[in-house]
Order: sequence, then C-alpha cells, then structure tokens
Amino acid sequence: MVVATNLGFPYVGAKRELKKSIEAFWSGKISADELKTAYQKIQETHWKLQKEQGLQHIPSGEFTLYDRVLDTAQQFGVIPTRYQHIQDPLQQFFAMGRGIQKAATATTEKVDVPAQEMKKWFDTNYHFIVPEFEPTQEFKLQAPRAVEQYKTAKALGIETRPVIVGPVTFLHLGKTAKGFEEFDTLSLLPKLLPVYIELLNQLQAAGAEWVQIDEPALIFDLPANVKAAFEEAYKTIKAATSIKTLVAAYFGRVEDNISGLLPHVDALHIDLVRAPQELDVVLPLLNKDQILSLGLVDGRNIWINNLSNSIELAQKAVAALGTDRVFIAPSCSLAHSPFSTVFEKKIAEKNPELLSWLAFSVEKTKEIVTIATAINQGVDAVKDTLAANAAALESRRTSAQTANPQVRERASKIPAADWKRPDVFQVREKAQAQKLKLPLFPTTTIGSFPQNKEIRVARQKFNKGELSAADYDAFIKGQMKFMVDFQERVGLDVFVHGEPERNDMVEHFGHLLHGYDFTENGWVVSYGSRCVKPPVIFGDVSRRGPMTIDETVYAQSLTKKPMKGMLTGPVTMMKWSFVRDDIPLNEVCTQIGLALRDEVVDLETAGIPCIQVDEPAIREGLPIRRADWDAYLEWSVACFRLSTSGVRNETQIHTHMCYSDFNDIFDAIAALDADVITIENSKSDEKLLKIFATKKYLNAIGPGTYDIHSPRVPSVEEMSQKVSDMLKHIPKELLWINPDCGLKTRGWPETEAALINMIEVTKRFRAQY
Ligand code: GLN
Ligand code: ZN
Repeated sequence: MVVATNLGFPYVGAKRELKKSIEAFWSGKISADELKTAYQKIQETHWKLQKEQGLQHIPSGEFTLYDRVLDTAQQFGVIPTRYQHIQDPLQQFFAMGRGIQKAATATTEKVDVPAQEMKKWFDTNYHFIVPEFEPTQEFKLQAPRAVEQYKTAKALGIETRPVIVGPVTFLHLGKTAKGFEEFDTLSLLPKLLPVYIELLNQLQAAGAEWVQIDEPALIFDLPANVKAAFEEAYKTIKAATSIKTLVAAYFGRVEDNISGLLPHVDALHIDLVRAPQELDVVLPLLNKDQILSLGLVDGRNIWINNLSNSIELAQKAVAALGTDRVFIAPSCSLAHSPFSTVFEKKIAEKNPELLSWLAFSVEKTKEIVTIATAINQGVDAVKDTLAANAAALESRRTSAQTANPQVRERASKIPAADWKRPDVFQVREKAQAQKLKLPLFPTTTIGSFPQNKEIRVARQKFNKGELSAADYDAFIKGQMKFMVDFQERVGLDVFVHGEPERNDMVEHFGHLLHGYDFTENGWVVSYGSRCVKPPVIFGDVSRRGPMTIDETVYAQSLTKKPMKGMLTGPVTMMKWSFVRDDIPLNEVCTQIGLALRDEVVDLETAGIPCIQVDEPAIREGLPIRRADWDAYLEWSVACFRLSTSGVRNETQIHTHMCYSDFNDIFDAIAALDADVITIENSKSDEKLLKIFATKKYLNAIGPGTYDIHSPRVPSVEEMSQKVSDMLKHIPKELLWINPDCGLKTRGWPETEAALINMIEVTKRFRAQY
C-alpha cells in the first residue's frame, strides 16, 4: 500500500490562533502555562484534522512558537553568549528570536539584547533565525521539541512522524558566532552527530517508527565538502540508530547532491512540483528496500492539483518500486500555504469559479489522500473526486477569467523596440536636464510619507463603508496637500505625492488590475508570529483603467517642482503575490509589464516628468541554482524595461531597490537602464559604492543617506560623511541625495528633522562643488 503522508502543517492555526496567543504572551496578557495550553490545543486540532482527512503519516515536531531552526539551535544548546544569562528557556527562546528590551527598575538593571539575524528560508517568503556557532561549540540535547510533541500526540492516541531539521542543513545555514574568527561551521559535524543520534534514539524509545529529517540544503549548488558531509552524517546515523529515516529535500532539484547519503537512508523525499524530471533520475538509484516519497502536491502555492497527472507519476513510481515503497506527499511543508479555503466567503460568493481552482492546506491533504487512494484501490474508488478535479482544471484552462485574448495577442506581438528606450542614457540625460533644470545633487524621497493613525483609520472606515468615496477622496487630497507643502517647506527638488492612498505597494495595485483577487484568510507566516496575506494572480493581467493618474496629477497641480509618479514594478507585483501556475512566470511578468507600460505612458501624457518603478523584489526572485540565474534575470530585467520604455527621452525613469547586495547581479541592475536608481546604502560600507564605480555605472544613482528603519535622526555631520564617501566613487553629476527607502513607518517629527538635515548637507556640498 502506498502511504498518504504530510511533511508539515500551518502551525499558526486556522485563524492565526497561535499568533494571537504568542502576542498575548509577549504583552503579558497570558502566562506561559496559558500559552502552552493554547498551543497544545492547536496541535491537537491539527493532528486530529489530518487524521480525519485520512493521512497516515502525520507530522509532529514541526510546530514552533517562533521558528523551527531556532528550536533546533536551542534544543542542541547552540545559544550565543549574549543570551546565556537568561534562565527561563521560553524567555531565552524569544530573546534569541526577537530580542528583549526592558527598562531598568529599582531592583533590576536595564536589559537590551537584540535578536539573532534572520534570513530568507530558501526562496520562500518565510524567514528563519540564523544559528550562530562558536569554533569550539559544544552540543547538548535538552528538551527536544520533536520528542515532546511526539509523546503529546501519542497520549492523544495519534501516531505521528516526528520531523527534525537535519544536521547538515542546520550547520550549513548557520554562521560563525559574533566575536569569533570565521570558520567552516560544517567542521562541527562530528561533534553534532552524537546529539542527533541521541535525539533519534529518544524518538525511537518513545515509540516512533519513522523520523523525517529535513535537509533542504540538498537543493543548493553544493561544494564537495558539503556533499561529503551529507555522506558522513547519514553513514554515522545509520550505524548508530535503527529508527527509519526519511530524508526530505524540497524547493528544487537535488541533482547529484544525494549520491553520498542515499545508501544510508531508508527513504528519500523529492520535490516533484519543482523538479518533476527527477523522478526518472532517482528511481534507478534506490536499492531494493528503499522508499521514495513523492512531493506531488504543491506545498507553497494555492492551486488545485492536477490529480490525474499526479496519479500517473505515482503509478510510474509504483511500477518501478512496488506499492510498499512509495509515499504520497506534498512537495514541502504545508506551512507555506494558507489554512483552508472554507474561510473564503467573499470569493465563494463573488467568484465561485475561482474558488474551485484553489486548494489551501486542508484541501491539499485531501488531494494527497485521493492520490494514495487511487493507487491503492484503483481510480474508480475516487472517480467523483477525479471528475470534479478534471472539471475544475478544464474551467481554469478555458475560463474567460484566466485567458484574455487581447492581453495574449498583445503580449505575443510586442515590437522589439518596446523592450528598450530608443536612446542611450547620455542622450536622455540632456533632454531631462533641459526639462527639469535640477540643481547639482538633486534631492528626493523614495515615495511614501508617514502613514499615521489618522490615515489608517480613514482607510478602514472607507473599506467598511463608514466613509463615502467622496469624503475619503477629499481626505486623501488633504493628505497629499499636506505632504506637498511639507516637501516645499523642507526644500526637496523632486517631489512625491506621498502614497497616503496605499496600504501596501502590491495589494493597492492588485485592486486596480484585472487578474488579481484577494483572500480574507489566506495568511502564511513570514517570520515569528508575523503573517502576510499575498494577493492572488489568477488570470491575465491588464489595467482596469488608469491607476495613479488622478492623485499624481492632483499632487503636481499643487507645486511647480517636478512630481515623481510612483509605481510598483512587474517583478515585485508578481513575487509578492500567489502567482498562477498555469502559464510561465515570464508571461505573467510580461503582462504586468504591459499594464505598467500603459500607466507610465499615461503619466507622461498627463504631464508628469519623473516616474519611479520600484523593484525591491528583483533580487529575492533569483533562482536557487546559479544555472537558472541568467534566464531569470533576462526576462525580469526585460519586463522592467518593457514597463518603462514607452516614454520620451525627457521623461526621467527612476527605480528603487531596498538592498545593497549588488555584486553578483550588477550587470542586470545596469541593464534595467533606469535614469536614476535609488538604493539602500546607509548600513553598507563603501563596498557597494565601489561596485558602482569599478563597474563604471553610467546612469544616475542615489545611495541612501540614512536608515529609515529607526526613528533616530542622523546629524548633518553624519550624513555629510556619507555623501563624501559617495563622491569618492560616484561622479558628482550622477549623484542624487535621498533616504534609504520610503518613510511610511516613520513618524512626522523625525521625518522632518532628518530631511531638514539632509537638505542642509546637500546645500553644503553644492557650495563646495
Ligand atoms: N515607493 C515605496 C515607498 O516609498 C517603496 C517601498 C519599497 O521599496 N519597499 O514606500
Ligand atoms: Zn526600499
């Protein structure tokens, strides 16, 4: 019999119950015991629910109060020195995850320990806490979550499959602890393995038959020493344990990374959503007892599975291995998907067709069970489900909502000239100088101004229907007027309208485009207790109408200074959404690029002289494997150019990026060919500026002069130093002066103080140059 299995479940809960409990605990509203009761209840509900769905291998141990990698670190005693004084394990855990700050009291000293570093978990939108290892790191197993959760489930009468983060992934994702000379964290493997073995033996003693060991590092481009570490780890584990091991790789292709470890594991999981071609490669590599876990159901997107395709793949595996050596699984943990579509009342009411194409975690577990049943009992046993699935897929394929013939026609016939601006920067620059007459070192901001409570309340009222469209419009206009007057007063050169009408840079535009919809409860964890609810791109994208013209033209009417139109770029629009998987990503991106192109041209026609197209997500869209980078960068850069190249030379195109990591994608950044690029810089050293200098970047550039993440007001001297550093590397004619990023999360007092200082710095440099 093939086994219906799961790799992980959205621990945050159906209605983000865990988030609410954790935050209540942080703010002192509930005790640690109450938090425990709350999370045990969620766990219990989830285990029972998965069992009821018919899953046979139900995960435990992946449930976390902050982050699974952080759990792993704490339970092996990988605690950086600065947290070791915190006695209470739960307090210590949260201190490592999010830092602690406590004011001094009569009897206690002030505590101020920042959190450990957070990094993106592979190419998902989830972020994990980066473990910090010391060169002489010792490991000690204490209160392992997997054992605790396994036993809790067992006591409830539910047999689970414990999940742990694998030793090689754990070390490979970690870094050298602060204050130590950099070393290869993998060198700690021989010391780490004994505690892993202890953990596995504890799990077995508790009654677990299988353990799932997550090793997603298997999908990286790996140097030989990491591949060797995989072999060493699993050989050692095999020799010292007898619990059955399932090593899980996901998010991409394993290629030859598995060859060393494969002989030493009982089962291997591969991601057949991301890498369907690997089924044929892996099948012949297995020995006669090994099991293959097929990641058939997409764990990180929201679309229904093509069940007949999945059944076909499963049948192929069964034909090669026999039914007893195949697991049916999601591609990765379902924690990357929202909970269930049953909460989507609005979509159900307004767009039932769309609802029929959606599968969140609960629905995905049903799909897994259906595939397993089809194999075990024959397709007839699930024929109604298969028929409904085929009908939904057919409706998705042929629906007027997914395919808009005009959009398709246009996208297929984009003239070659539309992919780039007609003249080079040096020609455009002259036309822009003549038109804009900007001073040396032009100053600008990145787009948003503080979104205070007043704005948020007005938006809420408007969304609830408590404020009429006319009143809301008048309110927004009032805000824009205030923001324009503010810029006038402070003395900036290129103005922005301030984005008071936008709650979010992607969702706002999603509402103005065809092909987008929005869930009510489609939350996924981004880090810790923080969740995001990405919009859904389900159909061909085109504008419903002009998107930003009214507000931008209004803002321009209030000033003689050039107003900068403000749009979100095609890659970012796509990357921060759940994207349709029925056409290639580059086609989705091209459609968004075309919609934006129309908006850019309309802004120009309406008299807006500068237009910024933000692309903070270009870098995070980079594929994991280097071999895939070029193809991605080629189409993503092309789509940006498509969106921005419809304008005349005199119209100045800006772009903005929120990171400073440009080294390896420099050529792509240059190929965007924006007239002005503003980037985050205040926290980077001169390395970033040097890259632009040595690569001879020829367009204008505004490296951020100050950090916008903190209310701290940088002094004139401090920013002057920054600008001096910039001028060592960037020709004065090309330098712009601006903050690191948008000011949305800041308050007005510090915004005003910081910008006044920034303008003062600019004046001093203008006087010198
Ligand atoms: N224009 C946006 C803003 O200022 C840019 C934000 C971003 O790049 N993340 O808020
Ligand atoms: Zn930014």
